[in-house]
Amino acid sequence: MGVVTAAEQGVVAARSYLNGEWVTGGGEEIEVKNPATGKLVSRLNSSTAEEVVAAVAAAREARRAWAATPVAVRIEPFRRAVDLVESRRDELKAMICQEVGKTQAEADDDIFGLLANFLHTPEDALRHAGKIVPPTWTPNSKRRVLITHAPVGVVAVMSPWNFPAAIPSEMITPAIASGNVVVWKPSEWTPGTSQILAEIIADAGFPKGVFNVVQGRGNIGAQLVEHPETDMVAFVGSTATGEVIARAAGIKKLLLELGGNGPFVVMEDADVEAAVEATVEGAFYLAGQVCTAAERLLVHDAVHDDFVAALADRARTLKVGDPMDAATEMGPLTVQSSLDKTIAHLGDATGQGAEIVAGGSHHDLFHDPTVLVDVTPEMAIAREETFGPVAPVIRFSSEEEMLRIANDSDYGLTGAIFTKSLERGWELAEQIDCGTVHVNETTNYWELLAPFGGMKKSGIGRVLGDGALESFTNSKQITYDRARPKA
Ligand code: NAD
Repeated sequence: MGVVTAAEQGVVAARSYLNGEWVTGGGEEIEVKNPATGKLVSRLNSSTAEEVVAAVAAAREARRAWAATPVAVRIEPFRRAVDLVESRRDELKAMICQEVGKTQAEADDDIFGLLANFLHTPEDALRHAGKIVPPTWTPNSKRRVLITHAPVGVVAVMSPWNFPAAIPSEMITPAIASGNVVVWKPSEWTPGTSQILAEIIADAGFPKGVFNVVQGRGNIGAQLVEHPETDMVAFVGSTATGEVIARAAGIKKLLLELGGNGPFVVMEDADVEAAVEATVEGAFYLAGQVCTAAERLLVHDAVHDDFVAALADRARTLKVGDPMDAATEMGPLTVQSSLDKTIAHLGDATGQGAEIVAGGSHHDLFHDPTVLVDVTPEMAIAREETFGPVAPVIRFSSEEEMLRIANDSDYGLTGAIFTKSLERGWELAEQIDCGTVHVNETTNYWELLAPFGGMKKSGIGRVLGDGALESFTNSKQITYDRARPKA
């Protein structure tokens, strides 16, 4: 079947990609509307159960030849993929803005992440060297013990809607570069972006069956998780779905990047102005719909009032509006469930004595950047992931109290500490139970070359940097005795 590019189709329709062929899925049709305008922007045709089986079979068939292909050859198509992203950048950017409601700058960040994964991860794979360890049992023998990184096999990849370009690529790239084959089920909320990305990867020129795409809701992802011939599940999404997947996957290799409830700490010696700017990025970037969002602001008594006043001023002046307008600083919420949860958490908190000092209103899917004070650690807004544009402020008066509140969470993804003392920042960073802790930096800073992931219910395993290559390979031991055979 000939390839019709996404742009040529008007309202973009996402299809399945099975064994090197584009197929219009025979299942349910799902339409996606622009969250800023309500206008139809894209649709997908879900794969049928048989199409999912065909995708896994194609991957299985391609598996051994791809694993045996030299890594330098395996990574070549990613170089072409970089050029393809550049040639389709405007189309990709417009689609991300229209499907997710991202501002221009936020869509650029998504594409920056995508390019970084295509550029740097294959280079890491090229240098992902094994090692030789000394034999302990017979130190004088001619035995040699070699440790290599073996691909896992067929990897089922499931991705969320909030970074529809960067996040799929942070799993697909290391998986394929390290010798695995992939069946990807993109988010049902971003079929247009996923279609463009799938076309870019398909056009980069991997052999048939190495990269496959199926479409649909969670039930299609669940079929991949449960399929006896998928060897690994790589998932980025909510903790609730991650728990379902962990139970269903049984003894398969798992990569789970899940939700967060980032503590953002402002100590009494903090640069308050810098902390306010970092909070704006942490709490209001993508209207708060980021796993690394600053979801709990722990602010010392001594700077609390100054911090809140400055943050409220900043929140009131943030330009909320149409993401296609270059001046817009914050767009709409992407999905109704984010709005519903934001409203419910604000209602629960104000019902228990918290006070809204800036924002608090909404129209359609647009919610004001909101600052909430007198929040206590027991409130739902402090315990759960809100995924909305709210900065909930909890006051503290001692380091011990701050650490107790910061670590009293089911989540452990990203935290931040603002202090002028580097020594103190370092010591506190070591005591906060998160996979990443930034000192004097927003929670939403993602270092693309460093392993990233969570503690506790924020996940298992690491993406990005060499962490990704560890996640998508198993260490394999091969021993060889040079003394045998004797003749
Ligand atoms: P989600 O869990 O609803 O869905 C994620 C993906 O999983 C989608 O493709 C969905 O169709 C699929 N899915 C749903 N049920 C499934 C099942 N039973 N089996 C297999 N697949 C299934 O999450 P979402 O709403 O798309 O994304 C938002 C969530 O993702 C937030 O909680 C956010 O914190 C998290 N997230 C985490 C990271 C990270 O790196 N830790 C990054 C981005 C987003």
